Amino acid sequence: MVRAVSSIIGVPKESLPSEQRVGATPESVKKLAQRGLVVHVQQGAGQAAGYSDQSYVEAGATIVDSVWNYDTIYKVRPPTLDEVASLKEGAFVVSLMQPERNGGLLDALKAKKATALALERIPRVTRAQKMDVLSSQANLAGYRAVVEAAAHLQGFMGQQVTAAGSTPPAKVLIIGAGVAGLAAVGAARALGAQVRAFDTRAAAREQVESLGAQFLEVKVQESGEGTGGYAKVMSPEFIAAEMALFKAQAKEVDVIITTALVPGTKAPTLVPRDVVEALKPGSVIVDMAAEQGGNCELTRPGEVVVHNGVKILGFVDLASRMAATSSRFFAMNLVHLTGELGTGDTLSIPLENDVVRPALLLHQGEVLPPLPAKEPSPAPVVAHVPPPDAKPAQTNVNAPNRNAWGSTVGGLVLIGALFGLGRFAPSDFLQHSTVFVLACFIGWQVVWSVTPALHTPLMSVTNAISGIIIVGGLLQVGDGVDLPSVLGVLAVFFATINIAGGFLVTERMLKMFQRGDSAPSSSGGHR
Ligand code: NAD
Repeated sequence: MVRAVSSIIGVPKESLPSEQRVGATPESVKKLAQRGLVVHVQQGAGQAAGYSDQSYVEAGATIVDSVWNYDTIYKVRPPTLDEVASLKEGAFVVSLMQPERNGGLLDALKAKKATALALERIPRVTRAQKMDVLSSQANLAGYRAVVEAAAHLQGFMGQQVTAAGSTPPAKVLIIGAGVAGLAAVGAARALGAQVRAFDTRAAAREQVESLGAQFLEVKVQESGEGTGGYAKVMSPEFIAAEMALFKAQAKEVDVIITTALVPGTKAPTLVPRDVVEALKPGSVIVDMAAEQGGNCELTRPGEVVVHNGVKILGFVDLASRMAATSSRFFAMNLVHLTGELGTGDTLSIPLENDVVRPALLLHQGEVLPPLPAKEPSPAPVVAHVPPPDAKPAQTNVNAPNRNAWGSTVGGLVLIGALFGLGRFAPSDFLQHSTVFVLACFIGWQVVWSVTPALHTPLMSVTNAISGIIIVGGLLQVGDGVDLPSVLGVLAVFFATINIAGGFLVTERMLKMFQRGDSAPSSSGGHR
């Protein structure tokens, strides 16, 4: 079922004093306008993120005093109870909702018969990556956590050798290598720190190591993989082993950044008081899970706690501290989500949509039941196993077996064809066709047996082979228009495409590894 909503989107100014982000930017306004949607922005909504009212007007938006009487609202933080009180009955609100942390919100929205789309509930599946605000914001927050740690650390992150003295690189421990953790690993490495990271999911090892950091391990064997690629809550024995590891690490490291979380649960306490006390005075802990109860026992959300000279940063607004970029990513996530909400100049709510439905907290004030699981396609019948008490089937030995006949006739035809070729075809033809068949077979085996990650190096090898084909092709091209010349020209043509394409792809891949000029990526993580 699809329900039409409206074509005007209202974007309010965030009311939480520490929130600098905004739900639409001039760039997103233009994108929404391309679809025929109209955006009305509350006066000063983008000011803190660096987007003036004028810039919205130039992008095609209208500046208004309030948007709370609109049919559709796009915002960042969960609406406050006061905001819901001003909400139009039956309105459609798209924002983070986190009802488990915002007491009374669900009931207030129900009373308004609102349709509420909770952005944190968008499933973390590949198709929804471009709409995943948690990932886009965690990526920024992980980077910012390193910047904050560096700002509070009384030294360099990278190694320094100067006339006045030298310092070794700072040692950074990152706990939890999900989206935020990996962004932190990358940022800390970029600043020159020596980084080690820990995660309960084995899949995180490769990602951590590919960023040039060391992956730590505990002796207790327990898989951290839950369902759907998410982490699971670990046993008390495993958590105890982790804490022992972190206590040993605390004697060495200067910075700890914690991001450990299993979605939908309280953050596990992994850095208790004794681990904090094992750190050198002047060390810094950034507890990114502060809002979910904190990974450090001494964290106070939103505050900087100093204990024995160790600073514990419990900032809950890390992404908001980079409001221009985080708003841009957030707003573009919403543009992509809007792509799921119908087409043309009217927004609609597709209740069967596999990304929208799980995120719908309420539909017209009602909690919807989850979508029924898709019927699995019937498994192919491989063999029929008769029940133990069944009588053996009677087989008519005289009935012709058509498959066997087909194979025999096919085999005889093939042998006949090969015999004919061997008898009448020129010997050159036989030699070349044997090489051709073998080349096809080896080529097929090479491509299919290689891990996809190695396909690009493989491409370089095939380019080298193409180089030889060009030489062979050129040698075949003669004066006249005969078959070898035509085939030679074709060989040169296709090999040229392969070589040029190979260089193009290689150049693009190399650009991805060059700093500063690649397009920003808002996603990552462990999907
Ligand atoms: P994520 O789910 O991608 O990553 C969490 C990681 O923690 C996973 O890799 C998981 O395997 C790991 N983990 C779970 N239990 C663990 C344990 N016992 N030991 C070690 N690792 C464990 O989440 P994310 O998007 O990277 O976010 C991480 C945290 O950062 C969340 O708490 C999120 O709310 C927070 N966050 C904070 C801010 C801020 O401003 N403070 C901003 C964005 C995100």
